[in-house]
Amino acid sequence: MANEGMSIPIPDVLEIDHGVLGQLESILKKHRFQRAIILFDSFSSEHYQGRIIENTSGVSVDCLTLDLTSSIYDLIDKAFQLDRYDVVLAIGGGSIIDFGKYVAFSRRTPFISIPISPSNDGFASSNCSLFVNGKKTTVPAKVPYGIIADLSIIQHAPTPFILAGIGDLMSNITALYDWAFEEKHGYSQGNAFATMLSKKAVNSFIRTPMDDLRQKIFLKELMSSLTMGGISTVISGNSAPISGAEHMISHALDKTSKNPQMHGIQVGVCTYLMSLVHEHRVERMVKVFSRTGFFEHVKQTPFDRDEFIHAIDLAPSMKPTRYTYLHERKYREKAKQLIETDPYLKEMIKNP
Ligand SMILES: [Zn+2]
Repeated sequence: MANEGMSIPIPDVLEIDHGVLGQLESILKKHRFQRAIILFDSFSSEHYQGRIIENTSGVSVDCLTLDLTSSIYDLIDKAFQLDRYDVVLAIGGGSIIDFGKYVAFSRRTPFISIPISPSNDGFASSNCSLFVNGKKTTVPAKVPYGIIADLSIIQHAPTPFILAGIGDLMSNITALYDWAFEEKHGYSQGNAFATMLSKKAVNSFIRTPMDDLRQKIFLKELMSSLTMGGISTVISGNSAPISGAEHMISHALDKTSKNPQMHGIQVGVCTYLMSLVHEHRVERMVKVFSRTGFFEHVKQTPFDRDEFIHAIDLAPSMKPTRYTYLHERKYREKAKQLIETDPYLKEMIKNP
């Protein structure tokens, strides 16, 4: 029988532009949501709750601020204490978006994510990162039903958050390279469409002018590309098109470092390292990370060398069923060597 193709849930609401948060009420009405709950973190509650309540007086909206130290168990409890809503929204940083995604997933309710910074691709992806037994752990959920990214809010994100988003997006390049390597070794079956989407996302981004990180066209490109990357994981059914060995080093740092840095910052440095290991598109990495000020930023708050080297050794154990370059000892040795010799890495990863 001929393959009928796949049915893939992709976001129904996709608004990436200036001022789109002001259209929240009409978006909810258009999609026939009558009873919504919006989750906030303390920052987004302070800055946006009043405005949202004012702008959504024509629909029933409840607001709830969650504690960002909540564990997965707290969230499940919370999810089942809630009344029945026909949509869950979350506005704020990556953690509250992940919480909202999981609460909505637990209750089988559509989820709309409203990121206020571009710091990673979590606002568009199907996974979330939650505390399980005290450790940040990747937990499967569902891709958001909707994404509302108001560029007039995102424009004011602190610079490191924008740089983090760039780091997370650039990792599509190394992730795809690892995924192809894995397929070549018979550990997984790639997916041509997911590969194309993830690749197009990052390639479109790197052609955007980068002299002003707050320029509308730049932020729109960054947010759209992160979104496309997120959607590629729905198609592949796993995170492989946007997450390779660079993410495994970052996960290891999250588990072992005394002071883990932002996800996208860690991933960006590891992406550059992996491009050197792969000997693939290094020049492009240097261009993007230099022009945007990413390297310069990390130099100001360098990584601890010993922790980083330990994280490289631990990387394969983060995803033991996968087979990236770092699952081979010789490439782990090469990575560790590069930390001692590469001029950029030497400045970003050093002894305290
Ligand atoms: Zn990531």
